[in-house]
Amino acid sequence: MESLYSALIPDATVKVQAQIATVLSAFPESIVRRVAIFGGIVRALKPRERYYEVSPALQRLGIDVDGWPAPPAGLFVVEERTVYLRSRSPMTIAHEFGHAIDCALGRGVYLSGVNPGIRKAFRDARCFVTPYAATGLDEYFAESIRAFVEVNDASSHWPKATKARLQSADPAMYEIVESLLSCAT
Ligand SMILES: [Zn+2]
Repeated sequence: MESLYSALIPDATVKVQAQIATVLSAFPESIVRRVAIFGGIVRALKPRERYYEVSPALQRLGIDVDGWPAPPAGLFVVEERTVYLRSRSPMTIAHEFGHAIDCALGRGVYLSGVNPGIRKAFRDARCFVTPYAATGLDEYFAESIRAFVEVNDASSHWPKATKARLQSADPAMYEIVESLLSCAT
């Protein structure tokens, strides 16, 4: 287990690695392993470090997320298979790891973008587990995963993302997430 997390969270102090690993322990171990085998990485920015400084893809593409009025708390860069974390809040870690799972299951592209079942569930959804889940297929996937593992921030004003809430708001997506997370090996 320790080697799994050192592969997944390579450039971190023991404290930061433990903090991230604690959140990831909410996920089934098989899916965490699947992301690690896929080459997924979780990298926490150091204080005052900017996304631009650590991500070759953002540099190449000239995407200045650090200059946005509100830089994102976390970011997943598909081509680097890397989660970047500016915040290490449990909600941010779990949400971004949801994108890493999406990408690992899609073998380098987001499964949510190409899977007909997920696309249909999104299209037909009348109600979303969190408001953010309604903003796009990738966020729909990441938020549904986060709800399934029930990781929330105590300080968040958002409704708590839980398994029960996902099941009642969006039963079709609940079933999809349940089967994806149980067949991860
Ligand atoms: Zn996201």
